[in-house]
Amino acid sequence: MSDIIKLLPDSVANQIAAGEVIQRPASVVKELVENAVDAGSTFIKIIIKDAGRTLIQIIDNGCGMSETDARLCFERHATSKIKTANDLFCIRTMGFRGEALASVAAIAQVEMKSKRKEDEIGTCILISASEVESQQPVSCSDGTSFAVKNLFFNVPARRKFLKSPQTEFRHIIEEIQRIALANTDIAFSLFHNDEEIYNLPISPLKQKIINVFGKNIQQNLIPVDTETTMIGIKGYIGKPEFARKTSGEQFFFVNKRYMRHPYFYKAVSIAYEKILPPNTMLSFFLYFSIDPSKIDVNIHPTKTEIKFCDEYLIWQIIQASVKEALGKFNIVPSIDFDIEKFVDIPMLTDDTEIKVPEVKINPEFNPFDNVKRLSSNSNIHDFFEKHNNDNKKNWEALYEGIEKNERDDFSSSKSEEDLFAKGLSNESVEKNLFFQFKNKYILTPVKNGLMMIHQKRAHERILFERYLIMASANKKEVQKMLFPVTIELNAADAELLKEIMPDINALGFEISEFGGRSFIINGTPGNIDTGNIENIVSNFLENYKITQGDIKTSVQEKAAWALAKASSVNYSKSLALEEMKILFNQLFLCSVPNYTYDGKTIISILSNEELDNRF
Ligand code: ADP
Ligand code: MG
Repeated sequence: MSDIIKLLPDSVANQIAAGEVIQRPASVVKELVENAVDAGSTFIKIIIKDAGRTLIQIIDNGCGMSETDARLCFERHATSKIKTANDLFCIRTMGFRGEALASVAAIAQVEMKSKRKEDEIGTCILISASEVESQQPVSCSDGTSFAVKNLFFNVPARRKFLKSPQTEFRHIIEEIQRIALANTDIAFSLFHNDEEIYNLPISPLKQKIINVFGKNIQQNLIPVDTETTMIGIKGYIGKPEFARKTSGEQFFFVNKRYMRHPYFYKAVSIAYEKILPPNTMLSFFLYFSIDPSKIDVNIHPTKTEIKFCDEYLIWQIIQASVKEALGKFNIVPSIDFDIEKFVDIPMLTDDTEIKVPEVKINPEFNPFDNVKRLSSNSNIHDFFEKHNNDNKKNWEALYEGIEKNERDDFSSSKSEEDLFAKGLSNESVEKNLFFQFKNKYILTPVKNGLMMIHQKRAHERILFERYLIMASANKKEVQKMLFPVTIELNAADAELLKEIMPDINALGFEISEFGGRSFIINGTPGNIDTGNIENIVSNFLENYKITQGDIKTSVQEKAAWALAKASSVNYSKSLALEEMKILFNQLFLCSVPNYTYDGKTIISILSNEELDNRF
């Protein structure tokens, strides 16, 4: 038999690529307008006929192209935006893959005119289904004009599947809104069937939002402005009382690029939890600025999905910023945390000196001691406390205004004499401060009301942060088992455990394979109830599975969470005063005391006013 493999002709290859990049008229609009943005334009005019089926024309006043470039730009992988693979790691332009124009030209008839300022005369090119039909000099203004006619004329199947003109035009509008909101320094105008739809001059962000969405949105916007070394977040969020039932305006931009990001969306929606009327959608316009080497925009052909380094930390910063903004406008009772302080996580650069935190092993550690299980005696706790020292401010602020002798420095135990002098016993001081309700909640008075803490979730948060710090600092604390335990798992769980063994062992386990589906456990993390180890491992695996679809989170984070959830105190565990105190202190040493990793509320405050209003 003769050889059968052939290279595809360019026109076919381009058509296949077009299938990915150009799904509908709106995709053409997006690619061409983004090119105009990259060309440094200050004015971009968009003319559409029949929702893009007949004509999509984009006229810009950008840098234009030379005669040679005008021809070359339609070749696949022809781009002026990157030169080496390294450039991929510091992308500031919208395009860089060099495939949009080749794709558009493969599935439509394109007329392009372009002229650079420095040239006397421009170039006009006609190209149809990847065939250049003519190229000639033309007199035209500076900049570039692309007219894309009869989209999909040579791919009848695609043309047939276009949706109604209303739907297709709605998609076009959405693309233009995104690009216009991302580029406040560019003026845009949009015409559809000769009617002017948008006229958006260069204007500050708030005005641009008003121009795009109408005057009514004006009184609805709350500013957000957070600057940390890792990321800057600016923009506006919607007031909950203006939230609409149908759709919200939800926009994330990163370095002026619109992006979809379900995980970060969750961070915003959690910040709104309980204050948004039921069945309404929140609105936000959030602009992230970040070092381009910390993101990967190349994971998706249309570049709307973007991967970040440190997504978990950014998640926390977003959540805290939105909460803070809502708090400033008195939309949620503010807990007076110094949020900026606790979310500013310094960025590591190549020359930052990394100090490995010290972990001392405490030979007196007794895992069977009930109180110590939660107590500050654990050596990991010392490390944890040192790490989070700054966060002490979190809880100190809570007690401002509470009687001095009530609060004193309750985090350090008072000397008996001291207490005696005041006529109080240690017990009675703290009784005023902590009360366990239904073995499920811890209640304590704070500056602006009564704080209620969900004890299991609080413990889960504490353990999660502790495990995460341990795993990332590569310092684990193992508690050797007196009698190693063998467990047998079902086939699927056994495979899973094998797969994540290094990560679970990094948390303090010493688990190894014991043949088939059996595993032997020689050690566990310091604060785990070893009497219950089989259950903890199986709960750990169950929890871990819940997070498995989430490809954006690191295995380490997932494992830390799964274990924290599996090993946190049981519901209905009665806590001694000492335990409540420790739980409380440790919770406020966490970077995010308010929510569990999966976004459940840990702390709720019944405000003084709410309380007074009841009487
Ligand atoms: P990419 O944007 O990924 O580089 P495109 O196929 O979209 O790839 O464009 C190819 C090249 O054509 C661009 O890199 C740019 O040099 C040039 N180009 C495209 N559109 C314009 C424009 N409106 N003005 C000036 N140059 C343009
Ligand atoms: Mg492009």
